[in-house]
Amino acid sequence: MNKILTKPKVKNEIITSPSHMLDLKSYIGGHWLDGSGDREISSINPADTRETIGVFKSASQKEATQAIAVAEQSFPTWRATPAPVRGRIVQKALEIARKRKAELARLMTREEGKILSEAAGEIEKGNNLLEWYGGEGLRFMGQTAPSELPRNLLYTVRQPLGVVSIITPWNFPWAIPCWKIAPALVAGNTIVFKPASNTPAMAVEFVKILEEAGLPQGVLNLVLGSGSSVGSVLVEDARLRAVSFTGSNEIGKGVYQNAGRRGIKVTCEMGGKNPCVVWEDADIPLALIGVLKGAFGSTGQRCTATSRLLLHEKIAEEFLDKLLAEVKKIKVGNGLDPEVGMGPVVDSKQFETVLNYVEIGKREGAKLLFGGKKITQGDLKHGYFLEPTVFDQVTPKMRVFQEEIFGPVLSVVRVKSFEEAVNVSNAVRFGLTSAIYTQDLTLGMRYSEEVQAGMVHVNSPTIGGEAQVPFGGMKESGVGEREMAKEGILFFSEPKTVFLDYTGQKRQSNVY
Ligand code: NAP
Repeated sequence: MNKILTKPKVKNEIITSPSHMLDLKSYIGGHWLDGSGDREISSINPADTRETIGVFKSASQKEATQAIAVAEQSFPTWRATPAPVRGRIVQKALEIARKRKAELARLMTREEGKILSEAAGEIEKGNNLLEWYGGEGLRFMGQTAPSELPRNLLYTVRQPLGVVSIITPWNFPWAIPCWKIAPALVAGNTIVFKPASNTPAMAVEFVKILEEAGLPQGVLNLVLGSGSSVGSVLVEDARLRAVSFTGSNEIGKGVYQNAGRRGIKVTCEMGGKNPCVVWEDADIPLALIGVLKGAFGSTGQRCTATSRLLLHEKIAEEFLDKLLAEVKKIKVGNGLDPEVGMGPVVDSKQFETVLNYVEIGKREGAKLLFGGKKITQGDLKHGYFLEPTVFDQVTPKMRVFQEEIFGPVLSVVRVKSFEEAVNVSNAVRFGLTSAIYTQDLTLGMRYSEEVQAGMVHVNSPTIGGEAQVPFGGMKESGVGEREMAKEGILFFSEPKTVFLDYTGQKRQSNVY
């Protein structure tokens, strides 16, 4: 029997053969319910569009408004719950998620398409964030400061904001909810969560785990609905105290403007067009691994994907020969097959977008070295499979150099000097992440100083992040507070400064 179609053997498996298709629902005030919108939205396996993972009745603005009202009612009690207790609920969720890791990874592969090892890696990464933020319940601290006045205790406490909305994309359907929702909860906010319409099943599992961990009803509310219908409520409702969005620049700009107009906190983490420089002295085998992972891991559907490769001219030919030899070996297919190295793109829209960029690249004069086509052999014709694609002789004026493609397409530029490498790296409107491969520490340090990116990797791929350090981009890649680490919880809380005068008598003079 074909390995890919073998029935799952994991005991606790979420089975979604047509008869077991998941009936996905919104979750408001502790109740699972169908939306009243006029659309029924299906979550389809991008590796085999004959498989429907689940279906939900789309929420309308009515449920989005209701979810905000419930979150508002639930806020006083959640705010009064001690932060260490809030943190412990997140830690309990972590325990459950760890036990269910294999099964969640499998669901992610079937719903989003990334290969199983990457899905398991994402669950692990999200779990690290639950671990970090669970602990933050014990560290939700203010500061004391020396006052200008005698017998005056001057201190700060951190307080939650209130009702916050969290809007997430499909490409990291576990890790991104973890890195937004965990700090928001631990800081004492109540939440309305809208995941991408492509990955509702992962969002439902995330909420179920928090429910099982003991999160009180009404604290976290899930609205399954399309961004175009419920989005405006979740950005503009006057009761929201913050909006945390991750997604495209196209949508993010509107979110930032509409929420920012009301003077509330907004963070928008958006696209990237990340450069990887391979210098003449680079450890070539190491750089090859980094470029392959960065460009084609998760089918290039990462905000941190390596989409521009800047090769020092002296090693360019040698590097490209070796790179192409490896790219040709990538087995494309269903990510449940352990032999597969690259899964499908997520849906028909993304499929057409990437193919369109291949045509744009060819028209602009870039040289297509490999790939660029649909893969339709055998069962692959039922999925959104594309060849890993490499363009050479790309110039900074080209759209394939400037625009986020969000697929397995790598654009190669050759550079002669360090200054040129920095200028070419910085010649886009994005500034999310970057990488350089060199054995010259001075060069690596200079690059990390001069590249316009929120994150820099020296001798490692552009991808990745760790719970305990900030994640996010410069320039048009991000606005608002960075995510993860301390920054994540700072965004979802605000300081209050307390002046406690214990002189017990009228002051002779009050300086200020
Ligand atoms: P997207 O189309 O912008 O959608 C993101 C989210 O916004 C989805 O939940 C979407 O709902 C919702 N949405 C759509 N229209 C909306 C509106 N008018 N108001 C409010 N919300 C609305 O992005 P995507 O295709 O899901 O994700 C890919 C993008 O995310 C890429 O650009 C990638 O670089 C970026 N990304 C950035 C980071 C980072 O940390 N910088 C991380 C991951 C991904 P529907 O699904 O229902 O349309």
